[in-house]
Amino acid sequence: MKGIARLTGTVKHYDWGGTQLIPFLLQEDNKKQKPFAEYWLGVHPLADGIVEDETGGRQILKDIINNNKEQALGEKVNKQFGDLPYLLKAMDVKDMLSIQVHPSKKAAEEEFAKENAAGIPLTAGNRNYKDANHKPELAMALSDFWLLHGFKPEAQLLKIFEQVKEISGLKALFQPGGYETLYSRVMTMPQEEVDKILHPLVSRIVPLYKEGKLDRSQEDFWAARAALTYSGNGHIDRGIFSVYLFNVLHLKKGQAIFQDAGIPHAYLEGPNVEIMANSDNVLRGGLTTKHIDSKELLKHVKFEATKYEILKGEWHGLERIYLTKAPDFQLSSFELDPGEKAGFTAGTTEILLLTEGRVTVSDGSAKIELAPGKPSAVVFAGQKAELEAHTQSAVYRATVPVHTGE
Ligand SMILES: [Zn+2]
Repeated sequence: MKGIARLTGTVKHYDWGGTQLIPFLLQEDNKKQKPFAEYWLGVHPLADGIVEDETGGRQILKDIINNNKEQALGEKVNKQFGDLPYLLKAMDVKDMLSIQVHPSKKAAEEEFAKENAAGIPLTAGNRNYKDANHKPELAMALSDFWLLHGFKPEAQLLKIFEQVKEISGLKALFQPGGYETLYSRVMTMPQEEVDKILHPLVSRIVPLYKEGKLDRSQEDFWAARAALTYSGNGHIDRGIFSVYLFNVLHLKKGQAIFQDAGIPHAYLEGPNVEIMANSDNVLRGGLTTKHIDSKELLKHVKFEATKYEILKGEWHGLERIYLTKAPDFQLSSFELDPGEKAGFTAGTTEILLLTEGRVTVSDGSAKIELAPGKPSAVVFAGQKAELEAHTQSAVYRATVPVHTGE
């Protein structure tokens, strides 16, 4: 096992994906305008990273780790997780994604065991829990990035009920019932009732959207877009309620948001780099063609106003680190000028993803060039790596947090 190696990931062509960002990173021509939604780097069974050596030999990253666990992961991560605990993605959101929530570690363990005991195959369409892990996530904007994140504070919700007259009847659920009564009701009411409430709203805002009279800071903009994207077969998607009940966030380039267990969210638009615990546990409640299970989703939602923080990262020399409380991952970035150098020592199996420019990664003897169209890089535990930029460059580093005193 070498200290550094080339790493190739897997493209996911989900139909909500954009057509430019990931084809650019991979230098693939996309004349057919196929959606390139996500590019996964890690050891997820649905997207095994491939390591390539100088002679063209190929190995699965997971096998390299399994054959040299302590050496590859480092003693601490091997002891704590026994595997690579994170998954890194480049994401390009053109059409909004499903309203979703992720379970806590404890809930995931219990529910995964329950579905196993019930004999529901892992690949079944109605299977909710794909593994026994939680899935906290951090998304960092590569340019303007819009998302729904958690419940609005009470005062803002009341204002919405006043401004959007078609849904003002929901106020009677919120007061005195609170977030739980309100959200449980809109997520479980019969479809005819959803249609009855939302039809007048959609009829009013869709023409405004089409005339370009709404902007992205308005809930109406996203609700109209959702209606156009997801309300096929004469029904209106109940996910539209969430657009009004959740915080609409706008992240600018370099800003990030952490999504912990229980925070309902949905990505609306924009390119980002996302890192998460290595899990696929997603409970969905609308704005999607995938499996929806509102009851299961409601079991995991934290029914309270969501206090959120838009992370700007902390600078440690040339490295901008986005700290979260998740033990499974840490994301940082290096934005380097031509000729600029930066270095680090890998704490575990680390992955480097370049989004612009050209950078050489060196372990002292071997060198790997990162550039659009070239593989990414993996750096194994304990290895010192030096980055040198040849043009204006941006490189993302996926690792685990360093806990001192252990
Ligand atoms: Zn999510």
